[in-house]
Amino acid sequence: MNHHTLKDRFGRFHDYLRISLTDSCNFRCFYCMPDGPINCLSSSKLMSPEEIFSFAKLFTELGVQKIRLTGGEPMVRKEFPRIVEMLSQLPIELTLTTNGVLVDKYLDVLNDCGIRSINVSLDSLDPEGFFKITQRDDFHRVMENIERLIDCDMHVKINAVAMSELIESELTDFIEFTRDKPVHVRFIEFMPFAGNKWSSNKVITAAQMLKLVESAYDVVKLRDKPHSTAKKYKVIGHEGTFAFITTMSEHFCGDCNRLRLTADGKLKNCLFGEEEWDLLAAHRNEEDLIPIIDKCITAKFEKLGGQLNTDFQKTDFDAIKNRSMIKIGG
Ligand code: SAM
Ligand code: SF4
Repeated sequence: MNHHTLKDRFGRFHDYLRISLTDSCNFRCFYCMPDGPINCLSSSKLMSPEEIFSFAKLFTELGVQKIRLTGGEPMVRKEFPRIVEMLSQLPIELTLTTNGVLVDKYLDVLNDCGIRSINVSLDSLDPEGFFKITQRDDFHRVMENIERLIDCDMHVKINAVAMSELIESELTDFIEFTRDKPVHVRFIEFMPFAGNKWSSNKVITAAQMLKLVESAYDVVKLRDKPHSTAKKYKVIGHEGTFAFITTMSEHFCGDCNRLRLTADGKLKNCLFGEEEWDLLAAHRNEEDLIPIIDKCITAKFEKLGGQLNTDFQKTDFDAIKNRSMIKIGG
């Protein structure tokens, strides 16, 4: 098998694949879902579990070492347990990103399939704030599920989208959340996607947040893992850690090792890229997928999908061509 297929013209080797299982969701987070009618993919347009397995296997043979399942909400896909079981047979690190509300239903599957690390999205530690963001009353269930994951000794990362007016009031609560719990909170700078009404003044940067945290706590910088998108810190004496994902204020494209497969089987070489390569159609036509993957990797821009400005204040939201986040799969 050709192991150069996943290397791009800037020398980046792509050994991390994120697979979206569905574009539907049981939450309605406003920064992720566009307004208006929700047109979810019909099941014939979705990759079947067998097709997902076959793509995952191919990418593993090409050198992929880590696969993250995402969505939409991956756990609303009815074949979720079967897909996890199938993928757990591959020689990869398997993980997922979830809103956490169905974790209790699938905890055994996660444990049985050897999943050791999980990202749970949680943007507010207050039930009312949670409702405002998600339009759902599931705060307590998500919190209980986070406890369940910790009780199973999973490595639990908490993803919180940081928007200026929302996070400022809760930053301290999130830091307090790391005091006695082995949770790893990651503040993600608010990113622009189709229909999410992004504007640069809604972005609060890592530097601004760090300043706020440092004004109240003794903070140390931790070492970041290779290819990590997160810059990690810890309050001295706290059990958990916190980190910033600085996509807007300081991109990490030079070190990018990620590819994305949408729920309808299109390969994206960048979260912010417009172009997509239809692997599912090619697979259903029994075409050779390698030349298509090759084209996708070769076309990868040096940074930010060739669309966003490195100075996020200058990014023109209306000019960006892309899917909405829920249709990409974070
Ligand atoms: N439903 C799952 C969840 O919420 O974790 C997985 C899919 S979700 C699209 C993946 C991640 O993208 C979540 O952590 C979510 O908070 C994040 N996200 C969605 N829209 C975003 C935006 N505009 N800016 C930054 N992060 C965003
Ligand atoms: Fe659903 Fe996750 Fe998007 Fe929220 S962030 S609407 S939970 S896919």
